[in-house]
Amino acid sequence: MSNNIRNFCIIAHIDHGKSTLADRFLELTNTVEKRKMKEQLLDQMDLERERGITIKLQPVRMDYNGYVLNLIDTPGHVDFTYEVSRSLAAVEGTILLVDATQGIQAQTLANYHLAKDQNLTIIPVINKIDLPSARIEELKSELVNLLKCENNEILMVSGKTGLGVAELLETIIKKIPSPAGKFEKPLQALIFDSVYDDYKGVVAYARIMNGNIKAGDKIHLISTSVASEILEVGYFKPQLIKSHELKDGEIGYIVTGLKDLSACKVGDTIIDQKNISQKLSLCLPGYKEIKPMVFAGIFCKEGVEYYELREGLQKIKLTDASLFFEPENSPVLGPGFRCGFLGLLHLEIIQERLKREYELDLIVTTPSVAYQVKSKNGENIIIHSPQELPNQNEIIEILEPWVRVDIITPKEFLGGLMSLMTEKRGIYLTTDYFSNDSDRIILHYEMPLSSILTNFYDKLKSASSGYGSLNYEIIGYRACEVERLDILVAEELVDSLSLMVYKDEAYRVARKIVESLKNVLARAMFEIKIQAVLGYQIQNKNKGGKVIASERIAPLRKDVTGYLYGGDVTRKMKLLEKQKKGKKKMKALGRGRVDIPTEAYLAVLKR
Ligand code: GDP
Ligand code: MG
Repeated sequence: MSNNIRNFCIIAHIDHGKSTLADRFLELTNTVEKRKMKEQLLDQMDLERERGITIKLQPVRMDYNGYVLNLIDTPGHVDFTYEVSRSLAAVEGTILLVDATQGIQAQTLANYHLAKDQNLTIIPVINKIDLPSARIEELKSELVNLLKCENNEILMVSGKTGLGVAELLETIIKKIPSPAGKFEKPLQALIFDSVYDDYKGVVAYARIMNGNIKAGDKIHLISTSVASEILEVGYFKPQLIKSHELKDGEIGYIVTGLKDLSACKVGDTIIDQKNISQKLSLCLPGYKEIKPMVFAGIFCKEGVEYYELREGLQKIKLTDASLFFEPENSPVLGPGFRCGFLGLLHLEIIQERLKREYELDLIVTTPSVAYQVKSKNGENIIIHSPQELPNQNEIIEILEPWVRVDIITPKEFLGGLMSLMTEKRGIYLTTDYFSNDSDRIILHYEMPLSSILTNFYDKLKSASSGYGSLNYEIIGYRACEVERLDILVAEELVDSLSLMVYKDEAYRVARKIVESLKNVLARAMFEIKIQAVLGYQIQNKNKGGKVIASERIAPLRKDVTGYLYGGDVTRKMKLLEKQKKGKKKMKALGRGRVDIPTEAYLAVLKR
């Protein structure tokens, strides 16, 4: 019987108190003994604890007054929207948690729409009511308007003090329906997450929709067409506790017997091998392949660390199937990897993990989107770095990814935000209002994804005094006028600094970059020329191209004549002559002597 089960999750914007509330649930239901309780227990990664953000979702099963409550904590950030949508598909209801001091934010709204699309029961909850700056009445009217609910349906809690949390649990039991599956039906299990464990191999986190599953069962994964035999199943308490079986309506883990995480994809359906012929009708809806959208090169400062970097990436890939990487060789930075990420936060997380867990000193090149290039020979290729761009005369058209952007902000910042969006090539769609009592609006735009990579978050925050919040989703590829801009330092191409620029911005961007590079590169014994070049041909050695901006860094001049006081001018000249020659020699040695510091890549980003 599954009518004593309630499956739910919490959707909220970052920092609105999801993990803290989950902690109170764990305490109230005695799932975790009080003395073992530490703050934000469900955020297991070090990085999560430090930054206070949820990266990996962590399910937990709680027993309470004869009910089984399965909670899935979801990541709030836009880079992980797909994980949120899969968690939502695994539950019947959700808590919509809003910080009383912050109000509804872009990700609250985005996740709310996802939940509504899945017909989930939504319980609106205002959190942090213990704070004096809580603006409860205004927020209530916003929620009533948004959810079309009654004022008295909105619960008020403090995850910090525990106020209202028991009532919330009662409301969950009362309002959220029990799962509708059937034990007698063929097995269908939805994978909403999968992890790699050193001992157990690939472990699927799954919601059993129909049927049951236990150790020894032979299964089939629909989208990857992989077969396997189950080694173990169990529940999250929140640590893994083995059980005899998992059945309809339950949420638990499945030790799949697989060794490769890419065979066990989030959103896929597990069925019984004997039902393979009914695969089409058993496949649960909503599976989609997630593709990395943001690319950057990762290199080691010390060449010898290359093998450790490779090992680190391979290991992280085991636990994060959305990471993509392939070897790349840069004349300047040496051997490294071109990596693909879901977004900028994802990039930052991977970079941090490599630094911390593998103690690597890294250079990460300027992130860029994946462009689609239609070439004259009829090919349609995706390029992940500017270096892969074919020669101009072979290209018919270049397309770039576009996103739909929602920004929530107090009205007073409208003007500043609109000019920021114009500067970032945004196309205005509409404005939505919450209610008459509310001063908040939602702006809808379309914009190239690449605009978000160039310092957009910082600019959004400063244009809205920190109040604006952003959510976006990819809507497809559109044609764009871009070309590759190369950077030469001491007359040598620094390939890792190359970037794609809009043609009408090339001059402005080039100027900005050479100026900032001038500030970050150290002076040398010789003059360093910094040039930004369009149309530089790498392949056919006909280097040429057009320099559109340049700067010079004056040499450090060692005064070789200082000790020659007195009149021997010819001797002085001779020495200066000699010094000049020496400089020439060093220059010929090339840019090996010009150190390109990590800040150089930031200089390119902040254009
Ligand atoms: P999450 O990102 O949604 O998981 O948010 P967290 O649970 O990590 O909470 C973000 C911050 O808000 C933390 O510093 C919490 O201590 C704080 N916080 C959470 N709930 C409350 C609350 O009810 N009252 C107060 N005053 N602070 C809270
Ligand atoms: Mg959290």
